[in-house]
Amino acid sequence: MPHPFHWVPAEGARHATCDVRPCGCRFPVGTRVTTLCGAQVVADDGDLAWLWGTCPACNAVARRLAGVDRA
Ligand SMILES: [Zn+2]
Repeated sequence: MPHPFHWVPAEGARHATCDVRPCGCRFPVGTRVTTLCGAQVVADDGDLAWLWGTCPACNAVARRLAGVDRA
């Protein structure tokens, strides 16, 4: 079963979101998304953006959704 969230680089960190992507496998630059950590951010899609660090709060929620962290 696919996970219900996607990773999206935005505003200096790699966040996760449950928002539906409008097309393809990425959010177009400038797409406003609501992240799992509760922030409203604007998606980025540059080469550097994908190297940003993972948002710790999103990571924690994503791990729970993926069922790999049952704590
Ligand atoms: Zn986040």
